[in-house]
Amino acid sequence: VESSVQADMERLQEDFPGFRDRYRLIKRIGEGTFSTVFKAEDIHYDRYDNSWDHEDDLSKWTPPPLKGGSSRSRSPRKRARFVAIKKIYVTSSPARILNELELLHDLRQCPSVCPLITAFRHTDQVVAILPYFRHGDFRAYFREMTIPDIAIYLRSLFTALKSVHEHKILHRDIKPTNFLYDPTTQHGVLVDFGLAEREGTDSKPCLCHEARETRKHRQAGSVWAQTSMSTQPGYPKSDTRPSRRANRAGTRGFRAPEVLFKCTEQTTAIDIWSAGVILLTILSKRFPFFNSADDVEAMIEIATIFGSKRMKAAGLLHGCVFETTIPTIGQQGFTMEKIILWSTCRAEDKPLTPDEKLAIRFLERCMELDPSRRITAQEALDHEFLNMGMS
Ligand code: ADP
Ligand code: MG
Repeated sequence: VESSVQADMERLQEDFPGFRDRYRLIKRIGEGTFSTVFKAEDIHYDRYDNSWDHEDDLSKWTPPPLKGGSSRSRSPRKRARFVAIKKIYVTSSPARILNELELLHDLRQCPSVCPLITAFRHTDQVVAILPYFRHGDFRAYFREMTIPDIAIYLRSLFTALKSVHEHKILHRDIKPTNFLYDPTTQHGVLVDFGLAEREGTDSKPCLCHEARETRKHRQAGSVWAQTSMSTQPGYPKSDTRPSRRANRAGTRGFRAPEVLFKCTEQTTAIDIWSAGVILLTILSKRFPFFNSADDVEAMIEIATIFGSKRMKAAGLLHGCVFETTIPTIGQQGFTMEKIILWSTCRAEDKPLTPDEKLAIRFLERCMELDPSRRITAQEALDHEFLNMGMS
């Protein structure tokens, strides 16, 4: 493994002429589906008066002025000492790479979003340079978090989501590895806009956007039945209906119900659901909380919690009929309080504290099955839970 990392670093330095004079590669810090990320030192960072060598506070860091933009009106540029070099795999399409860089550029001034410093291309190779942000491993700290810790963590995440959503951008891949959080400083930044898109991109009208009035008068029987599970437990094997296309990008276990129901008019509410799954993970002390292999299994997991009645209603919003005879899926489902008590194996004599109940109330607002009823990032920041201890 070590030698392959060495070889990777060698290749990066050789592919980009002048790389060695600018950056000193330190180590590989991430390997994902779409990229390899290295930590490096910017060799010339201290040539600038405003050099910045903190690894944890990006709030005072400003990206360099834009080419062509007026640099005189801006504050003198600060330079990050340590950088994260994201080498995007050549298998990613050029349109996709451009999309990620463009969105990052649009979001460069947003609080709690990791800014893009610059990017290079050499033939089919693209690297993005970001300030390095020190962070902990979610699996190592999430079980230890107190309720106030959780509120601070989520405040930071929802601050990022608010500005991303104000730019009408869907992140599409909210999960712990894309939110870099340092539990010691209690700061976090959102990264990885590889799946992000502007709201309205390839959207076609979906029933869920019709006025509620119209919906009320619609007869359930006339709804175009699209996703229907077999009346036998298991999977529909010979489904001959035409397939429906919708963006399903994201990570399994974090996909919102409307993504699973192939809603063709997805909104920023999908990110709020995923943030809710992070909160459910922390409160239940189980990671991953949802562990489905595919979308049908993911629907079963969600239906087990919410019950078939509410799941059916959620499907109908998008014109889908949800049918199941799986015995573990009840009509009514369970309350989040029950789910959390069970998954943490809490004894009856240790009831939930008022703070825990407040966190669960907030969780329920993030995990509303109906995206139009789900809390928005702005509303979340105004919620009592995220304002704990901030009086
Ligand atoms: P991918 O698309 O491959 O998932 P990410 O942008 O999510 O790429 O980066 C992968 C990993 O690299 C992250 O989970 C994180 O551990 C690390 N990483 C990315 N950006 C930074 C950064 N600015 N500072 C520190 N680590 C980073
Ligand atoms: Mg990632």
